[in-house]
Amino acid sequence: MRELTLAECESVSGGHLVGCDSACTVTRVGDITVVGSHPPPGGGFVPPNMGGGESGGSGGTGDDGDDCGCPASGGATDQATRSAAADAGDMIRDQNWENQEYGGFLYRDNVTGEIKAGPITGGGIDGWSPSSDNMLGITSWSQIVGVIHNHGPNIEGSNHNYPSTKDWNAFDSLKGMGLTNLTAFYILGEDGKVREYKTDNRDTDTPGDDVTDC
Ligand SMILES: [Zn+2]
Repeated sequence: MRELTLAECESVSGGHLVGCDSACTVTRVGDITVVGSHPPPGGGFVPPNMGGGESGGSGGTGDDGDDCGCPASGGATDQATRSAAADAGDMIRDQNWENQEYGGFLYRDNVTGEIKAGPITGGGIDGWSPSSDNMLGITSWSQIVGVIHNHGPNIEGSNHNYPSTKDWNAFDSLKGMGLTNLTAFYILGEDGKVREYKTDNRDTDTPGDDVTDC
């Protein structure tokens, strides 16, 4: 028994995750029933790994002077996404976050319209890749508005308070898969704070807005 990759979910459902949730749930309790074709040999999508990364900036000190609550910029979606990111940060901090990477998606609930933190899954000691276990409650790529993972203080090589170059490459790869509403990257940094990085904010000298308490 194994988990379906995101690409396999996509393949199974013809480019969307409609119906994939039930298939993915099945993978946790029994055999996989795949309707449709597997990705072509060698051509299957490899979920992008969001490692700590080896490059990018000087690393943050965490002292961005912003320790007074949630940023007020943006609209209701931004605010709701930050709140979900803060929730996800809490869930990650409940894990072995200082020594291992974890991550998940932030998505809009199709029924209630709320933006929620999806399931958090564990990665390795120096990277995390999304899997079908992150997709509970998500039936289409367009629901996903954000992604979060951590750079723990004991994770070697991380640019600890910023997305690494590898992270941004993975982010762009996800957008290329059809996550058209994915606009924000959240990093739980080595100092335990969650920071927001929008698609066009890749400056590694300026820490993102602290959304830990949103
Ligand atoms: Zn990373």
